[in-house]
Amino acid sequence: MRLDTSVQKLKGVGPRAAEVLAAKEIYTVGDLLRFYPVEYDLFTEPEPVAECAPGSLCTLRLLIIGKGSTFRKGARVMSHFEGSDGSGRVRLTFYNMPYVRQTLTAGAAFIFRGILRSTGAGSLYMEQPRFFSDVQYQRIRGTLQPRYRQIKGIGDGRMRTLLGTAIEETEGIRDDLPDDLREQYGLIGQREAVRTMHFPPDRESLQSARRRLIFDEFFSFIIGIRRQKSREGERSNPRPLKIGTGQKMSFPDRSLSGGWCEKLLQSLPFTLTQEQSRAWDEIRADLTGPLLMNRLLQGDVGSGKTILAFLALILCAENGRQGALMAPTEVLARQHMEGFTACMQKAGLPVRAVLLTGSVKGKARKEALQAIADGSADVVIGTHALFQEAVTFRDLSLVITDEQHRFGVRQRTGLADKGEKVPVLVMSATPIPRTLAIILYGELQVSSLRELPPGRQPIKSLAMQDSQRGRAYRFILSEIKKGRQCYVICPAVEEGEMQEIENVSDYTEKLRASLPSGLRIASMTGRMRPEEKTAVMDDFSAGNTDILVSTTVIEVGINVPNATVILIENAERFGLSQLHQLRGRVGRGQEQSYCIFLYSGKEKPERLAILEQSSNGFYIAEQDLRTRGPGDLFGVRQSGLPQFSLADIYEDADILKEAAECADRVLSRNPDYHPAQERVVDYSTI
Ligand code: ADP
Ligand code: MG
Repeated sequence: MRLDTSVQKLKGVGPRAAEVLAAKEIYTVGDLLRFYPVEYDLFTEPEPVAECAPGSLCTLRLLIIGKGSTFRKGARVMSHFEGSDGSGRVRLTFYNMPYVRQTLTAGAAFIFRGILRSTGAGSLYMEQPRFFSDVQYQRIRGTLQPRYRQIKGIGDGRMRTLLGTAIEETEGIRDDLPDDLREQYGLIGQREAVRTMHFPPDRESLQSARRRLIFDEFFSFIIGIRRQKSREGERSNPRPLKIGTGQKMSFPDRSLSGGWCEKLLQSLPFTLTQEQSRAWDEIRADLTGPLLMNRLLQGDVGSGKTILAFLALILCAENGRQGALMAPTEVLARQHMEGFTACMQKAGLPVRAVLLTGSVKGKARKEALQAIADGSADVVIGTHALFQEAVTFRDLSLVITDEQHRFGVRQRTGLADKGEKVPVLVMSATPIPRTLAIILYGELQVSSLRELPPGRQPIKSLAMQDSQRGRAYRFILSEIKKGRQCYVICPAVEEGEMQEIENVSDYTEKLRASLPSGLRIASMTGRMRPEEKTAVMDDFSAGNTDILVSTTVIEVGINVPNATVILIENAERFGLSQLHQLRGRVGRGQEQSYCIFLYSGKEKPERLAILEQSSNGFYIAEQDLRTRGPGDLFGVRQSGLPQFSLADIYEDADILKEAAECADRVLSRNPDYHPAQERVVDYSTI
């Protein structure tokens, strides 16, 4: 079986399973094999309660005290039990599992594993712990169990079976690296690495498997870049755009002699900042010039990148050609669509945009695809749905990716492959250090927006202990009284996405209970269906919601100028860049905005101190690189730049350098080299 074989061909994958897999972007056997565990559970010896740190994953051997209680709370059945090991007591809570009562009987002992938490008052509890009898635990003690991102209907057990089959079926695929280079860089075999990731015998093997796969991700990425470059030859622009031609003949308005872009600029309620103007000059010069555009537009959150993307798309449309704008999330794509459509209406420009995301279905999807294929859509705005096979562009001449650090490598190259030589503009709020940018992108040109539009007041940021939550709530309330809106961010819990929902909905309930009634509080999680998310976001944008409780799904690019406060719970669990991105959800209008970081624990984390002092994204990115420790294999990744499935260009910078060197050596031996692992290229050499 080849890596690009459809997962449907795999034993055990029917049409339904294929559908849920596709929702997680698993289309091929290779995609499945790259669906690496998010973390590994090491089944450690039980520890005494008194020695466990709240907030961490703990293994406890507890004796059940008393009968426990089961009751209904809202739509849920809750069960509580008390457990003790002599050194301390822990309350064990289960949702919708009334039957555990039959097992967790008074006097019986079990091994419980879960995140140990502490209530404000200092008593300890665990929610939804997994539990085992002594005999059961004896069997798995000391082993590593992979845990996967949850997929509806495919639990970890079934996932392992599928992966087992996929590994067996692909056993024969040859290694991408010649033996001598593999040895020289101290890498284990590729198939072995894949197997070890999913079925790790021990930690050491896992380390070398991970190193090999990270190497491969960088390696194939760099091979792809190098080849693209050589294929592009002089990288000449095959069909430069023209300014102000109004080539779309069906549009007779003569007042547009200054061009459509000029017309749009005149209709805006603001003028471009100096930096925006300069960046637009650069982008326009690329599009109309002799060399193919390959440009990174970087600018802090709120620096006004979107309007530049719109200008580029309009220039393209004016020349009768198609442009695509790709966003990393459904919500953001929709927001761009609305923003774009509103701009076109206001400016009176005849540019037709269509939206193409995963939730555009049925007739609407068919129509959108048709419009893209026959060219009646000038602009296509969407998510990763944009590069699925079925999408054929009539004349794709510009690809823009927003928040590019959020996309996988495959996704970016995938879209660029839809057109022959397509100018590419990537926009990012997370600047990449220059040295890395050169390895990764080579000839990439960079435009930077280093100032924010005028009239913005810097966001006031404050980090406080979570015992001060009451103060924070009072502050939120005072802002809402002024007619403003507020975000509250809860971290996604490591325990899996079911608990993420529990977390957000529990939090929302608590928030409701502690604030005056009558406030309009909504919540949103990554697990909601795209339509639901959109509805919640729309309500919030329209000002119908006072407080939006959410996980980091709102992190990327959302723009609601009336939101002036963002409260981030458990801020210590987020990475620096991520916190900065989250903070950027406010401070988008004329009003003074605030960001409150709540942290648990006694000491203020250094990251939060940096954020209190600075709001400069470029500075923060540097600090991020500096403060980040070595990769935490067993922890949850908090990377600000998840470009690859496993690799992180900051943490794995050393491997990146080696992989770049190795790629160049391989190409010097064989300029036509194609790795089997490479994504979205032809696999003919396998
Ligand atoms: P980002 O760079 O984070 O994508 P956006 O493009 O979403 O930022 O812009 C943030 C806000 O700033 C938007 O409401 C946009 O209309 C506004 N904006 C952009 N450029 C200017 C400008 N030159 N003057 C005033 N407001 C601007
Ligand atoms: Mg943006």
